[in-house]
Amino acid sequence: ESSRKLFIGGNWKSNLTVAQVNAHVNEVVNTLQIDPAKLEVLVAPTTLHLAQVKSILRPDIHLSAQSCSPENMGAFTGEVAASQLKDFGVNWVLIGHSERRSFFGETDAVVAKKVTLALAHGLNIVLCIGENLSEREGGQTFDVVARQLNAVKSAVTDWGKIVVAYEPVWAIGTGRNATPEQAQEVHVFIRRWFTENVNADVAASTRVIYGGSVTDVNARDLIGQPDVDGFLIGGASLKPAFKTIVDVSQ
Ligand code: PEP
Repeated sequence: ESSRKLFIGGNWKSNLTVAQVNAHVNEVVNTLQIDPAKLEVLVAPTTLHLAQVKSILRPDIHLSAQSCSPENMGAFTGEVAASQLKDFGVNWVLIGHSERRSFFGETDAVVAKKVTLALAHGLNIVLCIGENLSEREGGQTFDVVARQLNAVKSAVTDWGKIVVAYEPVWAIGTGRNATPEQAQEVHVFIRRWFTENVNADVAASTRVIYGGSVTDVNARDLIGQPDVDGFLIGGASLKPAFKTIVDVSQ
C-alpha cells in the first residue's frame, strides 16, 4: 500500500466555449465527491478561461494552466509567463504535454526551461512524458522516458512540487489505452529512475499518474496497479464520465 495521495487531472485542451465551461464546472467539476485525505483533483482549462474558472471553481480543486512560457515576462508575443500565472493565482501548470512537444516543437530543452521558471515562481507542475508509437514498437520506451526525465533533472529543485504524468503518445486521444500491465511496467521504471537519479524518498513519494484514453470503463483496472497514482485525462475530463473516474479511483 502506498502512502501517496491519488491525483486526477483534467486537461481540457483547446476545447469549450464560455457557456460550456460554466456548465461543465457547475454540473460536473464542482459536484465531484472528493475524499481530501485520499485524492487531489486538478482542472486545466485554456488560458483564456482561467479567470472564469477561477471565479467559480470549488477552492479544494486545483486550477492549472496547460503551458507556460519558456521565458520570463517580456517581448514574447502570445506567451504567458510562469510569474504571471502565479501572480494571477494559478498555482499549477502542465509542462511537456505531447501535443506541445509534437505540434509546437517543444524540445526537451524548452521543457527544461519551463520547469526552471515554473519552479522559480512557485508553481506546481504536472510533467508529461511518454513515448510515441514507433518508439514503443522499436523497444525504446524506457530510453525515451529516461531521456525526458534526464532533460529536466538539473532544472528540478524540489520534486515535491512535481507530479509525473506518464502518457504514451499512442494512447492519447486514440481510444487505445495502455493496459494496466503496460502502465505499471513504465511507472515502475520511472520510480527506479528516481531511486537511481534522485533518492529513495523521492522515488517513494512522487506521484506518477497515467494518461492516455482513460475512461469510466478502464479507470478501475488502471488505478488497481500499485504504481499508478492517478490519471491525467483529456477527452473524458470534458464529460460526466470524469465524475465516475473520480468515484472509482478513491
Ligand atoms: C491528455 O491530453 O493528457 C490525454 C491523456 O488525453 P485523452 O485522455 O483524451 O487520451
